[in-house]
Amino acid sequence: MTLSNGRHIIAAPGPSIMPDRVLQAMHRAAPNIYSGPLLEMVDGLIPDLKTLAGTHHKAAIYIANGHGAWEAALANIVAPGDKVLAPATGRFGFGWGEVASALGAEVEMIDFGKSDAMKTDQIAEVLRADKAHKIKAVLGTHVDTSTSIKNDIPALRRAIDAAGHPALLMVDCIASMGCDRFEMDAWGVDVAVTASQKGLMTPPGLGFVFFNEKAAEKRASLPAVSPYWDWVPRANPEMFYQYFQGTAPTHHLFGLREALTMILHEEGLEAVLDRHAVLARAVWAAFDVWAQSGPAKMNVSNPAERSNAVTAVHIGAPDGTALRDYLSGNLGVTLGIGLGMAPPGDPSWHGYFRVGHMGHVNAHMILGTLGAIEAGMKHLGIAHGDGGLAAAAKICSGK
Ligand SMILES: *Cc1c(COP(=O)(O)O)cnc(C)c1O
Repeated sequence: MTLSNGRHIIAAPGPSIMPDRVLQAMHRAAPNIYSGPLLEMVDGLIPDLKTLAGTHHKAAIYIANGHGAWEAALANIVAPGDKVLAPATGRFGFGWGEVASALGAEVEMIDFGKSDAMKTDQIAEVLRADKAHKIKAVLGTHVDTSTSIKNDIPALRRAIDAAGHPALLMVDCIASMGCDRFEMDAWGVDVAVTASQKGLMTPPGLGFVFFNEKAAEKRASLPAVSPYWDWVPRANPEMFYQYFQGTAPTHHLFGLREALTMILHEEGLEAVLDRHAVLARAVWAAFDVWAQSGPAKMNVSNPAERSNAVTAVHIGAPDGTALRDYLSGNLGVTLGIGLGMAPPGDPSWHGYFRVGHMGHVNAHMILGTLGAIEAGMKHLGIAHGDGGLAAAAKICSGK
């Protein structure tokens, strides 16, 4: 007997759960890509994407996942030999730095570990020491999905300014956009990067790059940019095909249109962010109680440095894997694996998991996931404080 029949929930940090409306919007015949409603629809996506990113500047869409969006942004900014500073708070910070390095940049990584946000005064010091201004860009990560650390992007901007340094601020918002507040222009971000499959509730395959004038000037100074990654035609198309440098990803775009309508024109971005904040607090409340007498501990202890989209947990090997397997096999919930916390192949790798709470999630889905975790710990004999689920329900009750 299994209790897993019924709708299976993916509670992993991406790809996130897609609304049925998004799926249905994609279920249609191929459209005309030379004239007609598709062209207008795509023109209309651009202002919505900019609203989401909090920018009045430019947006470019790529047929790519997050790794592609990283590369797209860097291909327009980094010339071989340029130096970039990459402060990392988890696997994704390193990943972005590695892409820059593969593109020929000289990358200075700063490893801020796996449990706390980046120390922006340390970044300011490195920038101050760079008197010749060799560093062309700082690669920030808003939320590192591997550790679930949320970094203070306005503080990173202030650090760059305090050092009097001209480096561009580039920010990976792949996990955070539509989940945690992000305001590109107000926060002084020059380039922001995101993707479709997390907060935006759309299948993996669309990447987005937002850039301001200062970033556009750096792009203009490069001797060459690969034609596919070049953001100039995409952000200023004279012909429709230039949005995508070829055939439009038609069905992804129908899905995205529906998702943006739901986020921006129905629920409203502020309400979406509030919903994520409350549901994240419900998750934290459950883990706070469970941690009182048991091994499950949230990775980030300071709530101000926790993401509203994902929570990384250490529970000890082999219980992380055992819990994930039990939930997916018996309770209809797939949790995220631990990522970058221990080397794959190392026995300690089995001591971690992550709960995704991004995108199309409501109270019953989060309470259901937390209830399944509680049931799983009971089944497996993993000690835990009593009343985690009740604490989460209390947060959702608003009392
Ligand atoms: C998911 C994610 C990525 C990578 O995206 P892919 O679509 O897997 O290539 C990069 N950065 C962050 C912060 C992410 O959450």
